[in-house]
Amino acid sequence: MAIDSGKTSAAEDLRKTRTFGKVRCHNPSCMERLVPEPGDEHVKCPTCGMEFRLFWINPSLPRIRGPVWDVNRKLAQERLAALEKAEAAKKAKKGGK
Ligand SMILES: [Zn+2]
Repeated sequence: MAIDSGKTSAAEDLRKTRTFGKVRCHNPSCMERLVPEPGDEHVKCPTCGMEFRLFWINPSLPRIRGPVWDVNRKLAQERLAALEKAEAAKKAKKGGK
């Protein structure tokens, strides 16, 4: 029916323009808005590089299930190593204990 097909195309237009669910980066010092592709199992924050596992409440509503530990642990270790390096350099400069 003509009316039905009209309704369908209107719904499809709406679906095309609708922004999909956003989630917030769980990194407290980042809080970037992430927009995963529908159906994605992971989302990576473009700002801080942390990666999160997703679950979908419905096809357009994602939630962060938790961090991807392997990726985030690596990031944390790299940051920690850099901090320790800087700290060691500081101590070396002082020439103290
Ligand atoms: Zn982030």
